[in-house]
Amino acid sequence: MPVTQRAPEETLKAVLAEVRARGYRMTPQRQLILETVYRSRGHLTAEAILKAVRKRFAGVNITTVYRNLEMLEEIGYVCHAHLGHTPNMYHPTERREHQHLVCRRCGAVEEIGVKPLIPMSKAVLNETGFEVDLTHFALLGTCRHCRESGAG
Ligand SMILES: [Zn+2]
Ligand SMILES: [Zn+2]
Ligand SMILES: [Zn+2]
Repeated sequence: MPVTQRAPEETLKAVLAEVRARGYRMTPQRQLILETVYRSRGHLTAEAILKAVRKRFAGVNITTVYRNLEMLEEIGYVCHAHLGHTPNMYHPTERREHQHLVCRRCGAVEEIGVKPLIPMSKAVLNETGFEVDLTHFALLGTCRHCRESGAG
């Protein structure tokens, strides 16, 4: 999958074409799930995706959504991350390279690129041979606002 900064609609079109070209079945539900994930700028739970899909296909249930997300994740077009004690959040794969900062106190979620984390992952790799996945789990802490507004 090319990781480029394309407009969401362009990316979506390319992804739909690529999935079909690779010979995967594209049911209307599956297409709508892909569309929903790619058109969202933020982070979607499976429940939120279900809500969007039900507007067009009232009969779809959460199991179908999970099954499709799993399949799309396996073939590389969707990925998920964990933002603390919340359900999985789904992203288009090309937005994989960011990390989430979650404030324990107010729940705010900030996105950062992985660049500031690379020195840490290099140090861990050197010391232990372990390659850290920098994006799968969010980093928890205290946001600037909460820090500045009191009880550290
Ligand atoms: Zn994110
Ligand atoms: Zn996970
Ligand atoms: Zn906060």
